[in-house]
Amino acid sequence: MDSSAIPTPAPSGPSRQADLVDPFGRHVSYLRVSVTDRCDFRCVYCMSEDMEFLPKADLLSLEELDRLCSAFVARGVRKLRLTGGEPLVRRNVMSLIQSLGRHVHSGALDELTLTTNGSQLARFASDLRAAGVRRINVSLDSLDPDRFAALTRWGRLEQVLGGIAAAKAAGLAIKINAVALKGVNEDEIDRLVAWCGDEGHDLTLIETMPMGDIDGDRTDQYLPLSMVRARLMERWTLDESDHRTGGPARYVTVRETGGRLGFITPLTHNFCESCNRVRLTCTGTLYMCLGQDDAADLRAPLRANASDDDLHMAIDEAIGRKPKGHDFIIDRRRQKPAVARHMSLTGG
Ligand code: SAM
Ligand code: SF4
Repeated sequence: MDSSAIPTPAPSGPSRQADLVDPFGRHVSYLRVSVTDRCDFRCVYCMSEDMEFLPKADLLSLEELDRLCSAFVARGVRKLRLTGGEPLVRRNVMSLIQSLGRHVHSGALDELTLTTNGSQLARFASDLRAAGVRRINVSLDSLDPDRFAALTRWGRLEQVLGGIAAAKAAGLAIKINAVALKGVNEDEIDRLVAWCGDEGHDLTLIETMPMGDIDGDRTDQYLPLSMVRARLMERWTLDESDHRTGGPARYVTVRETGGRLGFITPLTHNFCESCNRVRLTCTGTLYMCLGQDDAADLRAPLRANASDDDLHMAIDEAIGRKPKGHDFIIDRRRQKPAVARHMSLTGG
């Protein structure tokens, strides 16, 4: 059961243990946590309309999520991102965020952040800032109300723009994530670049990834970002930037707006060599790679006893299996997605 009263642990933070290093010498310093697989939207590239969600009884409690995240922080994780599903629709999620904020305040974490569809931001923006969150990613694929409604099936653009404005007013830095979709929003990318420039938001464009069955055919939606970039260069001057977040995005600066523009191209560019991240689901399953099915169960060792010894052994064993890379393919001959689970389970 969720509880709003997560006990506040000692302010010193978790005791330090050995850092997590995988067999290829990569330090695992970034944990992404899907706190729920549920969502108040049904984006066409992410979910089918009649999604089946996990039974609530299978979910880790907020206290268990806190304990798991804190175990990773004790092993050298410096950045924690909450995602979903929609993280802000999980009941009492703010109490988890407030509790995890202690690791920011103690200096154990460099960053506590989240990826959100923005629908609940008007309500939570100032609490997020007070909890220690400084930057957030907001997904926004269109600035046209009708198109936005069609893309998200259940979303309202006005509500999301209101949320983004509230986040900006609360002092949160905002990065907009937009999935580039052929024949859907490709004519709007220019507008998104201009709008983000005006508003002072960074923008990252994402290629569709073949994850989970959706109602349509993904090969119809796939738009290579190399093409988007070539088109953008007809209007904007894109200066190469050496900005890196340790993630898969490659960045340029848009000279005319001064804004930062990122490209995430999982299908046309291999970013695995520098991968520093692992992903945890809301049931305590750890995925060592977004593009592979191998996973480790951390819920059993978490629940086995009150000490974290078994948990740390399970984490070590899992990191020892982190694969060298993914092999996403969008191929017209393949009927099945490359990875069976939906993005909403691991949170992207
Ligand atoms: N609900 C939150 C949101 O939309 O930001 C967090 C979870 S969502 C799964 C995280 C990111 O994954 C979003 O930016 C979304 O656009 C992206 N995403 C979802 N399905 C995708 C897919 N099949 N290919 C590429 N990106 C996808
Ligand atoms: Fe929900 Fe985010 Fe998936 Fe859209 S992309 S359906 S907002 S989880």
